[in-house]
Amino acid sequence: MTDAAIVQEALPRIGDWYASSRRVLPWREDPTPYRVWISEIMLQQTRIEAVIPYYSRFLAELPDVAALAAVEEDRLLKLWEGLGYYSRARNLKKAAQLVMRDFGGELPRTAAELRSLPGIGDYTAGAVASIACGQSEPAVDGNVLRVLARLLESEDDILASGTKKAMTKLLREHYPSGEAAALTTEGLMELGETVCIPNGAPKCALCPLRQLCRAAGHGRAERYPVKSPPRPRRVEERTVLLLRCGDHWAIRQREKKGLLAGLWEFPNELGRPGEAELRARFPQALSLAPCAEAKHVFTHVEWHMRGWRIELPRELPGFVWETSEGIRARYSVPTALKTYLKVISEQ
Ligand code: SF4
Repeated sequence: MTDAAIVQEALPRIGDWYASSRRVLPWREDPTPYRVWISEIMLQQTRIEAVIPYYSRFLAELPDVAALAAVEEDRLLKLWEGLGYYSRARNLKKAAQLVMRDFGGELPRTAAELRSLPGIGDYTAGAVASIACGQSEPAVDGNVLRVLARLLESEDDILASGTKKAMTKLLREHYPSGEAAALTTEGLMELGETVCIPNGAPKCALCPLRQLCRAAGHGRAERYPVKSPPRPRRVEERTVLLLRCGDHWAIRQREKKGLLAGLWEFPNELGRPGEAELRARFPQALSLAPCAEAKHVFTHVEWHMRGWRIELPRELPGFVWETSEGIRARYSVPTALKTYLKVISEQ
């Protein structure tokens, strides 16, 4: 069988399988474009179980595009706190404002128009267009690429953009529309998450594609997908300064662009100054002691952090000074620094 013939036979089987074995998830009930959009953005880089409480809280407070377009940024970041990759939340708001301005408050229905909005790439556009609007448009992510690579025994590197383009084209040529488009997109995602899994042996005995699947037929499913090795992450040694004056702690806001843009943090810096250097920099310190070490892994960089607790007689300029309760209640501090939030809460 050719690749095209296999895909043509596989897609209806995936839709039928999904219709009978899908898991119940909050965003799958009443899948409006808004609900699918929010869930897909939250699910990028985040596990389903972790997303569920965030999704419910977000929808309860911001039930539609108009509410999202009008929300204060601080409130939005607070609703997003803990999910990470905060540019996703900012792009949601920017896109909602454009939808209010250019589309009369209704998310557009075609993938091309959806792609014109900030934060919506090919995958999210395909997911919203097919699941919520019944458009004949695939949504191709790592899960889908893995299923296809095994199904077709593809030797192409799935991290190469050309592979994704070719797989998307192949799917698009055979993709259904209407309700079947939604079932196929959700089914492909579900199959990749629960049956044709990334780590460990795929559960081929449970798979609706087992009679079509080349890799399973040859007993070498785990050889696929072919992937180039990832580039190693840069490691940054950082020092986090917990500056305290009475019951207030120093925090500052990060730059509006770049990693953790606009979030609040304890002052921190590259490098590992020793006690003598810190005493020279803070001669007025009433006490100075090392505290927790922590590590946080971002996509391209790892922070290896060491904290110092420094008690000062007066508040220094250039920071916001707040109690630990105030910081927790009103400021969005990234998960990367949660160890230090805990340290100040225990003082
Ligand atoms: Fe994946 Fe196995 Fe299904 Fe092939 S038969 S798509 S390897 S789970």
